Amino acid sequence: MTVPIAKLSFWGVRGSTPTVDPATWRYGGNTPCLELAAPDGTQIILDCGTGLRMLGNRWAAPSARSGAGTHILITHYHWDHIQGVPFFAPLYVEDNRFHFYSFRSKFLGRDSLKQVFEAQMAVPYFPVDMSAMSAQRKFQEVAGGESFTIGENKITTRWLNHPQGCLGFRIETSAGTVVYATDNEPGDAKLDESLRELAKRADIFINDAQFTPEQLETTKKGWGHSSWLEGVKAARHAEAKTLVLFHHDPDSTDRMVDSLLRQARDEFDSVFAASEGMVITLGGPGDPVQAHMPGTRTALRREAQFHAKVCGVTEGGKEFEEETVVSELSLQGGLITLKHLPRLQSELQVTMEAPGADGVQSMKLRGYVVRIDTAAEKGHSAVGVVFTD
Ligand SMILES: [Zn+2]
Ligand SMILES: [Zn+2]
Repeated sequence: MTVPIAKLSFWGVRGSTPTVDPATWRYGGNTPCLELAAPDGTQIILDCGTGLRMLGNRWAAPSARSGAGTHILITHYHWDHIQGVPFFAPLYVEDNRFHFYSFRSKFLGRDSLKQVFEAQMAVPYFPVDMSAMSAQRKFQEVAGGESFTIGENKITTRWLNHPQGCLGFRIETSAGTVVYATDNEPGDAKLDESLRELAKRADIFINDAQFTPEQLETTKKGWGHSSWLEGVKAARHAEAKTLVLFHHDPDSTDRMVDSLLRQARDEFDSVFAASEGMVITLGGPGDPVQAHMPGTRTALRREAQFHAKVCGVTEGGKEFEEETVVSELSLQGGLITLKHLPRLQSELQVTMEAPGADGVQSMKLRGYVVRIDTAAEKGHSAVGVVFTD
């Protein structure tokens, strides 16, 4: 019997508005869009931010055995969660089938989601109207507190605390449970409790972490978002296994998100910061939750043989220091062979030595772990790093 595996892909992780600033490049600038491939073959998309376009460009139709098309759950109607729809190529292909789920907005009434899509593509906002979308589309209204099934997966919804309303989703698959709770501000006792219920013993709990705890208490109060600290508190209370910080502020640079992640990791064991291209698998043998980061996004690589000293933190949280060789160097990063197993998304201090005209020269760089391949060589792991300064 094969072990059931669920695969969760992050196509967009940025909140509010897309960013193209190079300082936000590592975590990524596309607005919210996630894809869950459930063990039974069901394909579920969570939110339709600009990340949806990238998903559309790499579209692989769900396996024939599911036969049910693609299911798209939309949390709410703010721009950053719907703006990818007109640019999602599979919607313009006749044979594709999509089943959308969202709530009835009190501002729009019946068929809220359909109205939102039509308005988004109305003249003079978009060159073609919705009739150009030839894929089959079905719209279903869901409200907070409901439960339903898609394939063999149980979906539960809860209202979150966000201006004009927002839904949180819990998806229980045979490989584990994913909870998606973005765009939520803590402070409403009833809704806070509801979030904790939704996240109860989740394997992956994706939570809004747009602001710092200080901002949340002062200048950003009432904007409908949360912080890493509130995510940690909810995760602890709900006994969630892994917390994913999500909906990064458009003004948060990669270094700032690194710092939020570091603080969260001091308080909670298993935390990741959502990163465009990151894939989390659930239910695999050994470690039930495994994260994989995208490699460097450029192809400019050179083979190299630099002697290097590497200092960092292991998966188990211990500091280490090791002498090794950096092979394969690109402008953005390198591939390093290590006996230690550094933690994914942690920082390594890499000092490389190369013979120069005036004797040995050393180059000190800060590297950020984006990839770990443990199968590379016996007793060693190949560690991909992006240099951050
Ligand atoms: Zn948002
Ligand atoms: Zn919102």
